[in-house]
Amino acid sequence: MARTLIKNGTVVSPTGRHDQDVLIDGETIVALYARGQADAMGVTADKVIDAKGKYVVPGGIDVHTHMELPFGGTAAVDTFETGTIAAAWGGVTTIVDMALQRYNENVQLGLAEWHRKAGGNCAIDYAFHQIIGGIDEQALKDMTYLVDHEGVTSFKLFMAYPGVFYSDDGQILRAMQTAAENGAMIMMHAENGIAIDVLVQQYLARGQTDPKYHSYSRPSLLEGEATHRAIVLSKVAGNVPLYIVHMSASDALNEVAAAQHEGLNVFAETCPQYLYMTLEDHLARPGFEGAKFVCSPPIRSKHDHHHHHADLWKGLRMNQLAIISTDHCPFCMKDQKELGLGNFSKIPNGMGGVEHRMELIYQGVVQGEISLERWVETCATTPARMFGMYPQKGIIAPGSDADILVWDPTKKTKIGINDKHHMNMDHSSWEGFEVDGKVDTVLSRGMVVVENDSFKGRKGHGKYIKRSLSQYLH
Ligand SMILES: [Zn+2]
Repeated sequence: MARTLIKNGTVVSPTGRHDQDVLIDGETIVALYARGQADAMGVTADKVIDAKGKYVVPGGIDVHTHMELPFGGTAAVDTFETGTIAAAWGGVTTIVDMALQRYNENVQLGLAEWHRKAGGNCAIDYAFHQIIGGIDEQALKDMTYLVDHEGVTSFKLFMAYPGVFYSDDGQILRAMQTAAENGAMIMMHAENGIAIDVLVQQYLARGQTDPKYHSYSRPSLLEGEATHRAIVLSKVAGNVPLYIVHMSASDALNEVAAAQHEGLNVFAETCPQYLYMTLEDHLARPGFEGAKFVCSPPIRSKHDHHHHHADLWKGLRMNQLAIISTDHCPFCMKDQKELGLGNFSKIPNGMGGVEHRMELIYQGVVQGEISLERWVETCATTPARMFGMYPQKGIIAPGSDADILVWDPTKKTKIGINDKHHMNMDHSSWEGFEVDGKVDTVLSRGMVVVENDSFKGRKGHGKYIKRSLSQYLH
């Protein structure tokens, strides 16, 4: 097998940074050497990557993506091929995508459909969560089958989107009880969709149809309320592990913090858009441009009585938020977002971001919001542990897959449709953002996939990862 040596870099893990050289044999990391030791011992390799002045970190793991998701009368525009290539460009080496079961559909057929879409098409490794959009006796049985046989150990439920993905409290409780038996994690889209739908109709009836009303009609109170309710239900089900996805608001964060104070297995993630974007600066842009930033939960106001951005960064420092994902769900403006011209409720919900998470969150390190170690922890190590992929993924250590990002802190990255943009969208959600640091080299299981500003990987290299139960529980 080919050996690769990454020399002269600084290896970063959640517990610190070390001047070490990394030896890879085939697809696996086989040794770490203190600076100079590899030379002294006469270690040779077929390929040497010089990482002088650079950080050598575990490849990013994005645990929340929606490739090819049929939604909002259309479908997310990244295929598993385009989406995983864009991910690789962003230093991401594993995605966990959301396989879909809707009301009246069969869970196992839904999962099979996702394998069909992804199989042979991914440039990096991939795993699945299963969306359960129709909880009935068969779906509950299938959940346990997926845990025991398919390497799918987490299930996403929705308290939003009545008539599409929505589960009522009784259904949620039953799914949680099933998870309490089989050990799975319940992931929750926590917004009170029933109340939101009333508000949506009231805004539309008043002629308030612009994209910004998407946010007004989904107040943070209703995210906080749903988060609270999900936590109570998880407690009733027996402290079943609960993971709140894409948290946008202080109201919800406070509920998670209170649950953690009680010692419950309650966790949460946020996404870059909730850390950087505002209703006023993005969603409320003139004309229809705000449609680019329509996602749920919505981008929040900077004039709210809560300081959502500051609170979410603080939550990341304090581990109330354990993970940063993207909720990558890309739609073009043309023919897709445009479905909501004159009616914000018809704008497909979602933004593209799988390529930019490592870049955008590194900027939080530069700005002093989180440490370099915390960047690695929230974007790679905890995602692996939370969703049962550790230590195969998420750490640079002997025996782990050689999924590695070499990061150059001395360069800059300019994001935009004519700058850095590899997702399959006709615009960039992050147009004009210029951040410190740059993806230098990316390896997926020992294979160089990005180097010298070019993509060197191939579709089909990515393998399906069967996951075990969460390794992050109290
Ligand atoms: Zn999602």
